[in-house]
Amino acid sequence: MDELELDFWFVAAATRRTIHQYQLALDAVVLRSDGISASSLLARLNAELAHYQAQIDRREHKLAAADQHALRTLTAALRVRGTELAQMAAPVAWCQSELTPEPSSAQLDFAQEAASALVKLPCEIIAVPNADIGYATPVPIKHWQAPLPRGGLEPVVVFVPPLELRATTMLPLLVHEVGHTAVAANRLLTKVRDASGEEWSSAVEEAATATEAQTGTARAAALVQCDDTLQRWVVELLCDALATAYCGPAYLFAFAGAVLPHSIDAPSWTHPPPSERLGAMLGLLRGIGCDPRHTYSSSPLAGWLTYVENASLKLNESTERLLRHCTQIRPRIHATALDHLAHENFTPPTPAPHVTELLERRIVVAADPDGKRPIERRLIIDAAWRLIFTSTTWGGASPEAILRSSDDIEYQEILDRSIDLSYLVERWNEVTPAT
Ligand SMILES: [Zn+2]
Repeated sequence: MDELELDFWFVAAATRRTIHQYQLALDAVVLRSDGISASSLLARLNAELAHYQAQIDRREHKLAAADQHALRTLTAALRVRGTELAQMAAPVAWCQSELTPEPSSAQLDFAQEAASALVKLPCEIIAVPNADIGYATPVPIKHWQAPLPRGGLEPVVVFVPPLELRATTMLPLLVHEVGHTAVAANRLLTKVRDASGEEWSSAVEEAATATEAQTGTARAAALVQCDDTLQRWVVELLCDALATAYCGPAYLFAFAGAVLPHSIDAPSWTHPPPSERLGAMLGLLRGIGCDPRHTYSSSPLAGWLTYVENASLKLNESTERLLRHCTQIRPRIHATALDHLAHENFTPPTPAPHVTELLERRIVVAADPDGKRPIERRLIIDAAWRLIFTSTTWGGASPEAILRSSDDIEYQEILDRSIDLSYLVERWNEVTPAT
């Protein structure tokens, strides 16, 4: 278990109301992790609580980075669930003033709604601001098979960069993170892999042969390494496909804003080259009839997307072989994601004129003009991106507009409130019978 993985279970345990419930949660942990006992985790939890209590007693306001991280994770989890542990009452109050902004209810509701569509098992989103790791989710749960044995909601932790807590147009990135749990819980990687059959093993074998020749790694180790990389890459491509199928082009723009400024062509052992990811998203969007290069044809944005998709990559032979396999199985990855989402796929219709008009005038929009039906949240985000690329405010349909609009806090705030209110309208309708 690495640090991140332990944090996941730590949050899972901390979100249970009582020590007895911790014990139930911890029992569940033991069922799925080797070598860590419930009592040692419980001991760690109690030691952490005592440690923070002591710091509060001494009025020490300077926490070490690791402590801050652990504390943030804990307190965010507690606040998000509206739960207060007796032991944590003081630390929570003390920390709230020190912490970066917490996720908004619109963000949490949006991620929770996505989780229902993607994960399809009882789960609860815990969004934790974390400056150190960007967008991430600890999903080492390869064997996530069923809800907690004694009932209850499986916690799905997603980390969000604190600076982006107010960038509502970036919300689709959380869907990618939730996608990791969906892939693990529904064995989507296995589905893709099984369908690839021989092709998968020959790609791994050829890549391993190249690795052997290049680095002198022993055959067995090279095979494991190449298979591991291919699995990780395909998982990322599956999460991209789920987020694209669920959000439409909005995911691609959010991805472009978050990932492409850092790199367009460099692969890592965990992620395929961003250009491959972008190419795959464009392919999926073309398939469902919403390629943004068509919508914004002959604009700098369309030209830039094509440029990134075709970026020439300098890869070694082994990486090149794995990447070729990813490109070959693209249709299978997309079909798996689209089948999995079924009726939850989203092909954005042209947004209703009143949505665009109100957003353009920076007025919150949450319902149809008669105020009765809430506006689908994905449509609000899609309309928000359309406005960004058609208005001169951020520079029109250009790649720069993606970044400029993320920094426009007032605009992002209007979107956040629109999404939040749309959920309120929905809940209002649920408790108020139509007349
Ligand atoms: Zn990912």
